Amino acid sequence: MADTTLDKAALLARYRAERDKRLRPDGNAQYLPLAGHLPTDDPYTPRTERAPKTGHVRFAFIGGGFAGLVTGARLVEAGVDDVCILEKGGGFGGTWYWNRYPGAQCDTASMVYLPLLEETGHRPTEKYAHAPEILAQCQRIGTQYGLQERALFHTQVQDLRWDEAAAHWRIRTDRGDDFTADFIGLGTGPLHVPKLPGIPGIDSFAGHAFHTSRWDYAYTGGDPSGALMDKLADKRVALIGTGATAVQCVPHLARACGSLHVFQRTPSSVDVRNNGPIDPDWFTSIATPGWQQRWLENFTANQAGGNAREDLVQDGWTELARRIRAKVVSLPPEQRTPQSMLAAFEEADHEKMNAIRARVDAEVHDPATAQALKAWYRQLCKRPCFHDAYLQAFNQPNCHLVDTDGRGVERITARGPVVAGVQYEVDCIVYASGFEVGTPYTARSGFDLVGRDGLKLSDAWADGMRSLHGVHVHGFPNAFFVQPTQGANLISNVPHNLTESGRTIATIVRHALDRGQRRVEVTQAAQDAWVQLLLSGPGRMIGGPDCTPGYYNNEGQAPTAASRLAVGYPAGPSAYFQYLAGWRSSGRFEGLAFS
Ligand code: NDP
Repeated sequence: MADTTLDKAALLARYRAERDKRLRPDGNAQYLPLAGHLPTDDPYTPRTERAPKTGHVRFAFIGGGFAGLVTGARLVEAGVDDVCILEKGGGFGGTWYWNRYPGAQCDTASMVYLPLLEETGHRPTEKYAHAPEILAQCQRIGTQYGLQERALFHTQVQDLRWDEAAAHWRIRTDRGDDFTADFIGLGTGPLHVPKLPGIPGIDSFAGHAFHTSRWDYAYTGGDPSGALMDKLADKRVALIGTGATAVQCVPHLARACGSLHVFQRTPSSVDVRNNGPIDPDWFTSIATPGWQQRWLENFTANQAGGNAREDLVQDGWTELARRIRAKVVSLPPEQRTPQSMLAAFEEADHEKMNAIRARVDAEVHDPATAQALKAWYRQLCKRPCFHDAYLQAFNQPNCHLVDTDGRGVERITARGPVVAGVQYEVDCIVYASGFEVGTPYTARSGFDLVGRDGLKLSDAWADGMRSLHGVHVHGFPNAFFVQPTQGANLISNVPHNLTESGRTIATIVRHALDRGQRRVEVTQAAQDAWVQLLLSGPGRMIGGPDCTPGYYNNEGQAPTAASRLAVGYPAGPSAYFQYLAGWRSSGRFEGLAFS
């Protein structure tokens, strides 16, 4: 265990060496889209024919994940019930519609991660709910708020255009729909376009292959609830990738496969999960009116630099933040300079990562495998993972780690992956290779917005996103973006950002309708001022140039003008939510022009 207690200089030298091995000039261009290489179709719901939609709706929302559901729910609560959600999947759920791989579960405590628990009366069954329960919560919201019967599933928007004279949006889709809406919302999600590693020969593989977000249960057997994938008993399976998805599905694959080879480029940091059932009596005792909002605020205060006295949620994220804060406040007050506080933060990080590396030694029997599974970077360089069966899976005789020493799989032949000249013969390759991040918004959504005076969103954002609150964009009246960037940017609990945006949008729409106003748009001056405010902040707290490459740091490429704008409110998420609540409830909506 000697290498987990390296001195700081040696540790940082090791971090740099591991990063340097992985730096590559092609950055995001190293990845391939799924289309043209592997099945992209929806494996979960058959597509049904329907007549194209025409006519007019009050509010059209693009995306049926958490963003569309919570915005739709808040609109309905505000008396705006003519809400049509358009969704490319065959049902609600977004991320949780597509990601049904075995073992999928939330990494943020269910009590704050699952939206609208109080409104729907659902009690989470586990501290960290599994995917089927999260998907069921999405369906519950859709049904309860009457969003289901108005939704258009298996429908991709192709054209969205503002008509200034009529003061409405025209929407055209791949299903022949052609209708208009007074208002639109966009909640297409940050991680929704699956990507593949650009490994030479990827198309030459003769066996079966799929991406984790298109899990082929017809091939594997089993189901999303974790039932044994009985059709894999005699199969040799390769899993490519060791990010948050792989960490969750490896134990299930290891249980089911004849043999499993896990191909690793960079190890994840895997901390303790400690999941367990939620006691109904305890839940009843805490679920007093307003409980979820209190918990959300408490989570954010604990996780994102607030001053909470107690930690109600106590999950992996609040533990991470509490530990750093404890280290900083242990400094005598007279020594609390920015420099010494950053040093304390760094020391807390080294202690944590040493503990995470020591955990690998404690859990993994084979010393060489244990060495290879250790993450050599600071914890927030890559998405932190939490699991109590991932590392342990490598103790099974049928489960093998193939460490590529930062280089990735060398090539793929008809028979399977090749690493360091060794051919691994397999029947099936599962790609846990993630999703596009950092590519242009319009490229990911598959359509451009054409706003006032023919302005395209791709042109408006050619040098990066510009907005007020991450929601309103000048030149695009009556359009609302529902996502975290340029708002709270609370990445550890994305749904909190969305529910606050949903509440705000419903308030604005209600305000416009009550006053007979047909257009609402952020002024150029308000948008510019907001962007200036964002740029005055400390920048991103995750990733960074010293980190091993990944989507947290633009794959190790130098920050661009666009990546510098991928930030949140400088004073942090708690302050942002307070600011937004005041902005919303003042009724003045400063920065917006109504006409
Ligand atoms: P990631 O992008 O995190 O992981 C992709 C994996 O593929 C990485 O291990 C990457 O290695 C590897 N890879 C890429 N190219 C190659 C190559 N040429 N050879 C070998 N390996 C390669 O995708 P995930 O789907 O795991 O996770 C995406 C995000 O989704 C997470 O970060 C998280 O935000 C979210 N998520 C959340 C969950 C939750 O909340 N419960 C669960 C799952 C995902 P390298 O690291 O070297 O790039």
